[in-house]
Amino acid sequence: MREIRAEVSKPYSICIGSGILDCLASNVKPILTSERLAIVTDDIVEGLYLKRVKEALEKEGLSTVAFVFPNGEQSKNIETLSDILEFLAKNHIRRNDTLIALGGGVVGDITGLAAALYMRGIQVIQIPTTLLSAVDSSVGGKTAVDLKNGKNLAGAFWQPGLVFCDVAIIKDLPEDIFAEGMAEAIKCNVIRKLPIISRIEEGTLKENLEEVIACCIDLKREIVEQDEFDEKGIRNILNAGHTIAHAVEKLSGYTVSHGKAVGTGLVIEAGLAKACGLMKDDRAVETIRKAVQRFGLMVDIPWDAETLTNAMRSDKKNRSSAIVFELPTEIGHCQEISLEYAEVVEKLRGCL
Ligand code: NAD
Repeated sequence: MREIRAEVSKPYSICIGSGILDCLASNVKPILTSERLAIVTDDIVEGLYLKRVKEALEKEGLSTVAFVFPNGEQSKNIETLSDILEFLAKNHIRRNDTLIALGGGVVGDITGLAAALYMRGIQVIQIPTTLLSAVDSSVGGKTAVDLKNGKNLAGAFWQPGLVFCDVAIIKDLPEDIFAEGMAEAIKCNVIRKLPIISRIEEGTLKENLEEVIACCIDLKREIVEQDEFDEKGIRNILNAGHTIAHAVEKLSGYTVSHGKAVGTGLVIEAGLAKACGLMKDDRAVETIRKAVQRFGLMVDIPWDAETLTNAMRSDKKNRSSAIVFELPTEIGHCQEISLEYAEVVEKLRGCL
């Protein structure tokens, strides 16, 4: 098992290893301040892992209660959040007890927020069960629910007390859910020189999954340590591929999944970087495209450059007349660049 330490305002450990779920109790015990834990999960993960997690904790003398909600983004709302908080109160969860978020990014985000709010803040442990939550959402302390007017509009920064990632769970994921997370893993490799695209090319990704997850987590840790509360613009780098991705999601009426939008965004933004003269390596766009296509994450864009650019106008990162991108200068390095609308339209024409 590897351990990565996140040195944020409240430092915590991130444990990564294959088959470590059954050793959960011994890793959790040192950070507990009571013997009671409330597990929050969704109805799919409940069937797969809740019993194992409960048994692993209870055999070591810890007591658990569990709250289960319907899986999917549509549950990430104020109503589910309120139900979780009421459940905690009804079960007499106290300030020194601990929450466990057992699931993907939806469970992690909403449970993290419940932990930030309940009794003005109780400890939360993140146990990610999707690749996306392992490489991205379980680390960094951003928690949220969606409002009717938009995604992630109500939230808080609340760092976990521990992140516990069992790679065997991630290896067993259905292909489509695994692929969704690969978009963010490939993104990490576009930002930093990491052995991810090379593992995809060699066909050795699954054998090296622990290393792949660990290096994505370590990148996120490093960036979050420098900008824990997203105030300095340093975390923006994690939005590589996302300026186009958000436009694709929006124009498709959110029928294109986030992973496919990010995969497509990474390829188009690499093309844009080349069109702007930022990307020197001619083969890089193709290398990214192949990695993305390997996981079925590239979608055809039915919109012209003008429509796509217009959809980017409302992105919250943008200043008045320009659009902000995190564009690759090579595979492993990105640079923030602000382009005028007309320039984006002109340059995108050659990339679509
Ligand atoms: P998710 O939690 O909805 O999981 C996707 C599906 O996989 C669900 O149906 C879930 O039940 C199922 N599932 C989970 N684990 C499984 C397993 N081991 N085997 C089989 N099925 C399993 O979605 P996600 O992709 O994990 O996360 C997306 C969410 O993460 C979004 O709400 C997004 O806003 C959020 N997010 C947050 C951050 C952050 O920094 N907080 C970063 C990125 C994304």
